Amino acid sequence: MDQPVLRPVPRPGVMQIAPYVPGKSKGNGHGKLHKLSSNETPLGASPAALEAYGSVKSLELYPDGAATELREAIAKVNGLNAGNIICGCGSDEILSLIAYAYLGEGDEAIYSEHGFLVYNIAILAAGATPVVAPETDCTANVDAILERVTSKTKIVFLANPNNPTGTYLPFDEVRRLHSALPKSTLLVLDAAYAEYVRRNDYEAGLELVATSDNVIMTRTFSKIYGLAALRVGWGYAPDHVIDALNRIRGPFNMNSAAIAAGAAAVQDQAFVEAAVAHNEKWLPWVTEELTKIGLRVTPSVGNFVLIHFPEEDGKRAADADEYLLDRGCVLRQVRAYGFDNALRMSIGTEEANRDVVAALTEFLNTN
Ligand SMILES: *Cc1c(COP(=O)(O)O)cnc(C)c1O
Repeated sequence: MDQPVLRPVPRPGVMQIAPYVPGKSKGNGHGKLHKLSSNETPLGASPAALEAYGSVKSLELYPDGAATELREAIAKVNGLNAGNIICGCGSDEILSLIAYAYLGEGDEAIYSEHGFLVYNIAILAAGATPVVAPETDCTANVDAILERVTSKTKIVFLANPNNPTGTYLPFDEVRRLHSALPKSTLLVLDAAYAEYVRRNDYEAGLELVATSDNVIMTRTFSKIYGLAALRVGWGYAPDHVIDALNRIRGPFNMNSAAIAAGAAAVQDQAFVEAAVAHNEKWLPWVTEELTKIGLRVTPSVGNFVLIHFPEEDGKRAADADEYLLDRGCVLRQVRAYGFDNALRMSIGTEEANRDVVAALTEFLNTN
């Protein structure tokens, strides 16, 4: 007979989780460093946000558990009802709350082949079964998702645009997905990069949330707002979804500095416009320059690109990564996302972008 296990054992699913590996933050040398591994902005945070952050002095006091100031600021800027907004410690927390509220053992949740890995973690942590739908050209495929819907499907997670591919679904496709889903399946629209997208056929999901009972949109202050260190995210959903999530979130899940800085940041839309303008200039530049030197770049609408390396001449992504690290350029390997021979690069400062293109040109010529 097997010995009984004499120590605590996590619930089924927990030990199947592959721990999330964040982007590296160090190069191989000690000189200049361009951190392009986590889709952070090269422009820092709004001065108004930094000032609000510094104004939080009474550290002995609990924060406002309802994050009222932040929810009201988000509501005002986006023309929403503050009662339909929930704030979280990054949108990662919102994604986990959604999974804990709507998934349990025996349930399934769908995400797409190269979808954001936090979905897999949240689903397994809630004891449910992840179901992966194949993509077409690194883009979510609505039919493939719908083919995998069963009576057990409680959630569909869709990152739009997706990380790490940078691709997006036009909103008529998102609507087609939504209208074919059972009314009891929650559609999660993760719009972490929405502010960067400049396409007429794109929407983050505000209207679909407002007109449905089974859609939640999540957003973050970690990307264009430059507040990744503070962990600020939010969700917009119908009353009944917000009510469920509020019951299980920690009563003080947002800290006072995050609330103050987030509220100031969202009201500085001039700062957001400057960040969009920077991206509008450098996203096409990086894409074109890398294409010119023979690398394949997945067309991106976010603030990052997925760069595919040629297989045949042995110049693989891992070698390129080392080469770049030696030159102070920190990109992201994306094997965990199903890309064995690609790197993801955040759009950086002009200097960072030029340094990466120069280093990769040299890498392809000399290695
Ligand atoms: C970066 C990112 C997030 C944001 O995570 P935070 O927890 O808010 O920092 C969410 N979804 C996707 C697809 C992302 O790339």
